[in-house]
Amino acid sequence: LLDALIDQIALALERLRLTEDLAATQLATETERLRTALLNSVSHDLRTPLVTIIGAAGHLADNDLPSTARHTLAENIREEGERLDRYVQNLLDMTRLGHGALTPRLAPQDVAEIVGGARARMKGVLRGHDLQVDLAPNLPLILADGVLLEQVVVNILDNAAKYSPEGSAIIVGATQKGVRVEISIADQGPGIPQADRARVFDMFYRVAIGDRQRAGTGLGLAICKGLVEAMGGAIRAEAAAPDGTGTRMVIELPLYNPEVST
Ligand code: ADP
Repeated sequence: LLDALIDQIALALERLRLTEDLAATQLATETERLRTALLNSVSHDLRTPLVTIIGAAGHLADNDLPSTARHTLAENIREEGERLDRYVQNLLDMTRLGHGALTPRLAPQDVAEIVGGARARMKGVLRGHDLQVDLAPNLPLILADGVLLEQVVVNILDNAAKYSPEGSAIIVGATQKGVRVEISIADQGPGIPQADRARVFDMFYRVAIGDRQRAGTGLGLAICKGLVEAMGGAIRAEAAAPDGTGTRMVIELPLYNPEVST
């Protein structure tokens, strides 16, 4: 009986070891996949704007250029510079999130101010769209880190503009839902298929359909999720229209409660 028992234990241990080995292999494969994806992203997403900037700067040096062409080139340089800035900010946020080194500075925030700040930063990107801001009146203050929340809204506005047709509307809203406020950003693009709506928040996950495969890193939404959750909130993707098209990103954050927060 004892022998049989020992055999069984040995068998169970062997199984456990095999499972652990498998888990370790899976982890190594996943780490390797992330490493490769990050390397591709850095080399592609860092270099693409740089190539445009260098090219535009080269043309600008041509003295015979008409002033309208100069203006366009200068705009290109600014826009691509801003894109680089957003990318570097996202990489920094990602690194800090990965090390658990991101401590949000929570303070009372006015949603209108955050949206205004993000809108101003994204002026160039939003130029081709009809941005409408429709916040509920008398919205209470929320508890959040203003810098991080603005970064989240910037990333989502960037996607809304990138994945929806020129000239279409992007609608930013905010309403109180019990002890939380929901900030929503809706676009009139093709939307995200239901099956992908949770996965788009994974690092480097991108929905690869036709012309939707635009330049991008697949980092933005993963960072948004990390930042929002670090602030005690939540983020989700929905369809914006009843027919399932359009994307509405909803960010939920807690209300500022002076009795609890001070
Ligand atoms: P990126 O835009 O750099 O690829 P993100 O993490 O910001 O990375 O988004 C992940 C993926 O989610 C995108 O590649 C795209 O497939 C999908 N996506 C995000 N926002 C939208 C949107 N507003 N409309 C349609 N698809 C979207």
